[in-house]
Amino acid sequence: MTPAGAASGPPRSLLPEQDGLRPSSVVEHAGLTVGLSRAGAAWRLVASAAGPGPFQGFEGEITRDADGGARLVGPTSARNAEAVRAALPWLTPRPIGLHTSAGFGDRLGLATPGHVRALRATAPGIAPVFAQQSMREMTRTGRGPRDVIDAATWGALAGGWRGPVGADADHLKTIADVERCAAAGYSLFTIDPGEHVDGTADVADAPALRDRLAHLPWSALEDDERALRARYLARPVEIDGGRVGFDEAALARAAVKYGRAVAHVTAMYRRLASLRPAGSFELEVSVDETDTPTSAAEHVYVASELRRLGVQWVSLAPRFVGRFEKGVDYIGPLDAFRAELAVHAAIARALGPYKLSLHSGSDKFSLYPAFAEATRGLAHLKTAGTSYLEALRTVGLVAPALLLEIYAFARERYPEDRASYHVSASLDAAPAPHQLEAADAPGLLDQFDAREILHVTFGSVLTARDAAGQLRFAGRLRAELEREPEAYAACLARHFSRHLAPFAAVVV
Ligand SMILES: [Zn+2]
Repeated sequence: MTPAGAASGPPRSLLPEQDGLRPSSVVEHAGLTVGLSRAGAAWRLVASAAGPGPFQGFEGEITRDADGGARLVGPTSARNAEAVRAALPWLTPRPIGLHTSAGFGDRLGLATPGHVRALRATAPGIAPVFAQQSMREMTRTGRGPRDVIDAATWGALAGGWRGPVGADADHLKTIADVERCAAAGYSLFTIDPGEHVDGTADVADAPALRDRLAHLPWSALEDDERALRARYLARPVEIDGGRVGFDEAALARAAVKYGRAVAHVTAMYRRLASLRPAGSFELEVSVDETDTPTSAAEHVYVASELRRLGVQWVSLAPRFVGRFEKGVDYIGPLDAFRAELAVHAAIARALGPYKLSLHSGSDKFSLYPAFAEATRGLAHLKTAGTSYLEALRTVGLVAPALLLEIYAFARERYPEDRASYHVSASLDAAPAPHQLEAADAPGLLDQFDAREILHVTFGSVLTARDAAGQLRFAGRLRAELEREPEAYAACLARHFSRHLAPFAAVVV
């Protein structure tokens, strides 16, 4: 998969651009040399080739050398991103299967070079999913599905990534979400049927469960109650280290809780399979954003039913015990987490194999060793907002007054913005803005409450406008990061090395 012949330095015909050329971006493949060059604040695509007419699909200004070579200078546009992916095929998102993998949600579209650096330094065998965003985050950041992929393409080129990449259309909830992202070139589709999970099944009594069981969408499930009982009550499912058995009550509870979710995932999968050729995409099933933990029996039920209905998936995200708050470490009983994890991992091996996916996975440092070990590397680590927090840390270092301004605004937004997240930060426990000086700015990212406050308010911060209709923070934030790409990459590399290192030993 890794192409041979990466150029060690810029070839002669690129030299006129060398002023702003980013050396790590220069790559040669199939007679074409491609790189990124800086012109003021913006990046430009530069390319050169020995023969005539080599720039199919690109846009920009083409000049010809006396010796027959040609050179192109063009914008980092959507069209050129597409052309770069065609010319450098490893940059086209593709399924990565059961390889140990990590997802790097990047809300600003500037983090990929830092992610590349962390991977290279710590765990080059981990397959990256640089492009990853949920529909909710796209709405909040004003980006479309293709923008997210394009930003990752430019970032991977800039950082000099030479391996395969995936792209994750994350937390898709509706058929319309699937249709939108299928056309944009994603390779991994994370289906979130959480709205169809009936969490009240956990506390319903037997008559209530019987009644709700009778009202499951049996035709969508291509099933009936008698057949369901026959499949599950006869014998337990063997997993290494034990078995998972069902009695009437456990089966009814699992089916009532997850039956509609199974039907929804199946419909989403079938729609996707009708839009994309087999082998061009893979599926993750996530029930992590539900109220109650996924039991072993429920995991077995979901996986067995999806398989019976012909759904193929590469990873599954159960809802684990404890609290997975955004951007901070795990809060909960570590022993119980480990015990549940071991069983979920054994089920994933017995009924797949498929990977277990750790959602809200950033900053869960106390979980990584156990997660890596229990899954034996059949793991996907999904992170998102933490790269935005590292962007803020960078701004705290290079433009502290801007971070303090953002922080004061984030505090105003927090009571409202926290509603759709599981967070426990309180405004009272976070540092008061009037007590902060410039030197305190980077440290805000190390304070639990300030960190969560900054995390969940990203959408408000990135889309806030002043009275004149100008973006209040987003433009300045991006400008600082583009002015100091090295500082941002260094923050990301340091932070993500801590995420990836525990997985380096188990990479498969
Ligand atoms: Zn999730």
